[in-house]
Amino acid sequence: MNKAESNAPACGCPVKAEENSKGKIIILSGPSGVGKNTVRKKLDYDALNLVNSVSWTTRAPRAEDIEGVTYHFVTPQKFEEAVEAGEFAEHAGFADHAYGTPKEQIESNQKAGKNVMLEIEVQGAEQLMEKYPEATTIFLVPPAIEDLRMRLTGRGSEDEASIAARLKRAETEMNLACKYKYVVVNDDAQRAADEIAQIIRESAD
Ligand code: 5GP
Repeated sequence: MNKAESNAPACGCPVKAEENSKGKIIILSGPSGVGKNTVRKKLDYDALNLVNSVSWTTRAPRAEDIEGVTYHFVTPQKFEEAVEAGEFAEHAGFADHAYGTPKEQIESNQKAGKNVMLEIEVQGAEQLMEKYPEATTIFLVPPAIEDLRMRLTGRGSEDEASIAARLKRAETEMNLACKYKYVVVNDDAQRAADEIAQIIRESAD
């Protein structure tokens, strides 16, 4: 039974149908290079009533990019104007380029009753957590972190400096993971996608 049905009064009219039919915000983030994009592409968008939020970026399109589908590719000046006009729900710099989620991408899709997927880096995700505390936040981690944690607590053959550097990085990443409602290990892209699909289904009920 969905929420609209369970709230229905005796006459059968749904209460707050509009509110209940509003789509969910799904934030998928994680350390750079963890495979967010690969995992995201394995989700069944139709079955999950899911659409991608299309970000703006100042980076140049790659061969596989399609304007308006993978990103809106804009000049740094146009990006800055949108920042000044308050058009982004979040924005961040990554590898010398700017990336941002227009508020409109979230709001219009939500109003249409769609669950909105935002696959973004960690700084932007933190901004969105404050604005949308109800969002379903998922942090994808590489299995290497698990391996690393085991190594750090066991007897390793690495030198002290290497262990210290890895510990620092692991701590940073685990601290970020704590801010998310769900942590998924990307040990296998399809398995991770299946776990994320389950999270979306459960959180969108
Ligand atoms: P790429 O240039 O490889 O497509 O993306 C680089 C990074 O930017 C990835 O970690 C991707 O998740 C992130 N990203 C894509 N769109 C956005 C966005 O709108 N906001 C933020 N903060 N990060 C984004």
